Amino acid sequence: ESFSELKLSYPLLRALDKLGFTKPTPIQAACVPLAMLGRDICGSAMTGSGKTAAFALPTLEKLLHSPKHVSSISVLVLTPTRELGLQVLSMIQKLAQFTDIRCCQAIGGLPMKEQELALRSMPDIVVATPGRLLDHLCNSIGVYLDDLTVLILDEADRLLEVAFSAEIRELIRLCPQKRQTMLFSATMNTTLDELVNLSLKNPVRLSA
Ligand code: AMP
Repeated sequence: ESFSELKLSYPLLRALDKLGFTKPTPIQAACVPLAMLGRDICGSAMTGSGKTAAFALPTLEKLLHSPKHVSSISVLVLTPTRELGLQVLSMIQKLAQFTDIRCCQAIGGLPMKEQELALRSMPDIVVATPGRLLDHLCNSIGVYLDDLTVLILDEADRLLEVAFSAEIRELIRLCPQKRQTMLFSATMNTTLDELVNLSLKNPVRLSA
């Protein structure tokens, strides 16, 4: 199977070609078509499986077909750590390089003021760690989640370890009910089931 069979737009196919990604990984082949149908996704996938592009490609495709810059954040990717967050941001920026989709970060441990300016310039996609994003939502005028259309919980098992689950609950509460949610985790356990039930609606379960 090739990426062109996944019905992705030309700017995304061009980026994949430039990155040297010729064939979708199994999680990408499974996730992209279902996510493009608007389904919620619950994926068991480790780092190395290609899970970042698996959630980024259908999300970018959705943004390419949405009206531009009408609101604050459209897509939120929550990650547990700074390293993972920066990795995810870099992958999304590479995949979006031939589009006018804009991404920024709200990651803990990085300067707050620059982040605030970037967040207020109406980016399409924000990659964030939970505590830092809550700080911005409380303190920055014009930064809100009311118009969010896609929520991604990356490495959800680790997200529950580093962030208090209260922070994750609060962030989910601030998101509109009507949205698409994708959750990825290396492990699935009972604590995670609670988050799955809280955040996903009738999800498709996938494993890499
Ligand atoms: P991830 O699991 O998202 O952290 O991705 C692991 C690594 O695989 C990253 O370095 C990606 O650049 C690479 N990768 C993702 N998708 C593909 C693909 N379809 N073909 C080749 N490499 C890929």
